[in-house]
Amino acid sequence: MASTQTDREPTFRESVDLMVDRAMAAMGVDKGTATAIKSCNAVLKVQFPVKIRGKTEIFTGWRAVHSTHRLPAKGGIRYAPYADQDEVEALAALMTYKCAIVDVPFGGSKGALLIDPSRYDRDEMEMITRRFTLELTRKGFLSPATNVPAPDVGTGQREMAWMADTYKHLHPEDINYIACVTGKPVHHGGIQGRVEATGRGVQYALREFFRHGEDVKAANMSGGLEGKRIVIQGLGNVGYHAAKFLSEEDGARIIAVIERDGAVLNDKGIQVEELHQHMREHRTIRNFPGAAFVEDGHKVLEQECDILIPAALEGQISQENAPRIKAKMIAEAANGPVTYGADGILNKRGVVILPDAYVNAGGVTVSYFEWIRNISHIRLGRMQRRHDELRGRQMAAMVEETTGSRVPDHFRESITRGANELDLVRSGLDDTMRLAYQEIRRILREEDAVCDLRTATYVAAIRKIARSYLDIGIY
Ligand code: GLU
Repeated sequence: MASTQTDREPTFRESVDLMVDRAMAAMGVDKGTATAIKSCNAVLKVQFPVKIRGKTEIFTGWRAVHSTHRLPAKGGIRYAPYADQDEVEALAALMTYKCAIVDVPFGGSKGALLIDPSRYDRDEMEMITRRFTLELTRKGFLSPATNVPAPDVGTGQREMAWMADTYKHLHPEDINYIACVTGKPVHHGGIQGRVEATGRGVQYALREFFRHGEDVKAANMSGGLEGKRIVIQGLGNVGYHAAKFLSEEDGARIIAVIERDGAVLNDKGIQVEELHQHMREHRTIRNFPGAAFVEDGHKVLEQECDILIPAALEGQISQENAPRIKAKMIAEAANGPVTYGADGILNKRGVVILPDAYVNAGGVTVSYFEWIRNISHIRLGRMQRRHDELRGRQMAAMVEETTGSRVPDHFRESITRGANELDLVRSGLDDTMRLAYQEIRRILREEDAVCDLRTATYVAAIRKIARSYLDIGIY
């Protein structure tokens, strides 16, 4: 195991491995199994030409498959001008642990395309995406059975629809073609609640944390989420939904939002929906009337608050700024926002970190529900909904008959309403996030060698992965 702090900040990939090493040392995994679990199974790098405005441009993309102990391997595809292989491998590894911690029976994978999406129009993006999909499919890195991408930074429903359609044309005989990617538009094989799933997952993770008084106390806080002061970095899909739900539904106060071009602060609380609207209109958070603007957004990570939610990119909290972080707790909505060096510093300073592999697992959890919906070719709840309604009505009638009094309307309404797809998705996600946290905290409390939630998370994940390696054997 490497030392906790080095002068050189490890790369993202090294950072993930070092965190995993720490968990493996705590649980005493043998060297062979450790190497088998940690190594990246395959990485595809493609370079392909696309003619853009009369000129041929070469694009570079990757798809890393970290593990195949469960299939398909799962994970998003990001479009970004800074992507590289180290990052893709680190993110693929994180997917392996993430799936294991929330009991999603998939291996880990991740992809990236080196591109600045703002430089291309819609039709060009479609052409590039379809060509990338062709490369991935032909090389065996995309199919409903073996490798299923999803949205990530810079991609969304639109890209997933193009990918599914391209795959369908290549494999019309595949009855499950629509399950080749998740995060699709709802009218195109997607599932209700997938867009906001990662943000919802962050909310459910925090709700579960705050149900455990001892854990809240260990983070130097008390009470529930109500009134907690939150700083959030990134108002993209994940950050926006997390901030919106936590403030509108749990009464938390968003006191600062950090974006690419600066940060906005208001200790009384920022109206997330209004800020999001402002951002959509003006493409910046500058001049937002409801808050003060600060040019140096990065510095606002150091703002005093209860919960800091980095929901942007990796490596935001490093050895350099970790000593100045004043949050009591960090909930990692992004992948890898805290480096290994920073993690050591924050642990020593008593800052509680809810780790990425758990906090942002809501996305892949709902992707799993979507994939199941796709391969079973039926909308969740389609068979049960009316049946449940009938049962509810019978129940109400029975109560009325035996008690002789009328069931109040609000009760009648809730017991006679069958669950629709969104209800089921939310219930499945909530249950998943609760159970995973309960497992993580049990490990932290019961195992002496485990001293922080991240290590406990990895211990839980690695135990499951090691068991499946043991069951199937290594060949
Ligand atoms: N890109 C998301 C993540 O990092 C979702 C992956 C998926 O749904 O497969 O977890």
